[in-house]
Amino acid sequence: MEYRRMGKAGLQLSVLSFGSWVSFHKQIDDGVADELMGIAYDKGINFFDNAEVYALGESEKMMGRVLKKKNWDRTSYVISSKVFWGWRGKQNKPNQTGLSRKHIVEACHEALQRLQSEYLDLYFCHRPDKNAPIEEVVWTMNTLIQQGKILYWGTSEWSGVEIMEAHRVAHQYNLIGPSMEQPQYNLFERNKLENEFLMIFRTVGMGTTIWSPLASGLLSGKYLQGIPDGSRFALAGFDWLKDQWLKNDFLDKVKRLDKLAKNLEITMPQLSIAWCIKNPNVTTAILGATRKEQLLENLGALEAQETLTEDIMQQIEEIVLTKPKLPDY
Ligand code: NDP
Repeated sequence: MEYRRMGKAGLQLSVLSFGSWVSFHKQIDDGVADELMGIAYDKGINFFDNAEVYALGESEKMMGRVLKKKNWDRTSYVISSKVFWGWRGKQNKPNQTGLSRKHIVEACHEALQRLQSEYLDLYFCHRPDKNAPIEEVVWTMNTLIQQGKILYWGTSEWSGVEIMEAHRVAHQYNLIGPSMEQPQYNLFERNKLENEFLMIFRTVGMGTTIWSPLASGLLSGKYLQGIPDGSRFALAGFDWLKDQWLKNDFLDKVKRLDKLAKNLEITMPQLSIAWCIKNPNVTTAILGATRKEQLLENLGALEAQETLTEDIMQQIEEIVLTKPKLPDY
């Protein structure tokens, strides 16, 4: 396993990490979660990602049970939670979502209970809250750090401007600003990491824990032959995600990438994940998996990085940047 510093922070994260969105509680039970986290940990993964909203709190409870059973040295791994949407779904009352001081603090306490931990290593603002003053967010996160309830705080899917505004406030009041951002990053979703955030990497030195390296499974190539039973795009309630990704333009590109991967004697998920972690501004790519075989295959991305030479990276670029043909008018 390779470990990277999280931006300018002292913390080191394994370049591949493991997350629980969709899978924990909805698709897999405690037994499979235990098996997958065990494989991850044994292979050197030291970061497990979670959020209050995942399976409306059940995902954190499941991870908490697995961690308790594993009884690993607490200093050997990093866990996260994220605050914003609340865990009560449609029952959420006004102060049970968002980034007010009240919700950030209460969500932190609740996540600690569910995860059965005394502190969160990483605590993310899952989205920006247009209604909460940024001063309130930064002061609250700083207080939680002083109280030892969280060690680092960060953002997820914030704009570059919003992140820099948090740093401005932190600087003004001598507070601790955000150390990491969690953006989506994969072969089909690149703008923030490759354009918008470049200045922030250079000046502030921000770490990134990127999500959906396989675009929810699309970049594994599994959807080239239709939608397999039990896969994410077959799940009830995930039509919005399926509609976002199952488009002819994306599928054509996946087909060409799949051919390239076969020529390189690596698999399509390995090519896609290796491509993400070739970017030095990625601290860690958070993997998702519902089966042991998927996780083991994806861990092969570490070695597959060597296969992606400059020439191959250029070939990938030509495939993913090809524009769909315009119809003749
Ligand atoms: P991916 O894009 O890698 O998708 C993972 C899913 O793809 C798996 O659950 C599995 O789904 C399928 N898959 C994985 N490997 C293979 C394989 N080798 N062959 C075939 N299918 C495979 O990552 P996620 O979208 O799960 O995101 C990873 C993590 O990032 C999340 O768990 C969460 O922690 C975080 N995240 C954060 C967000 C944020 O807003 N901050 C948003 C989304 C995720 P299946 O078997 O069901 O088809």
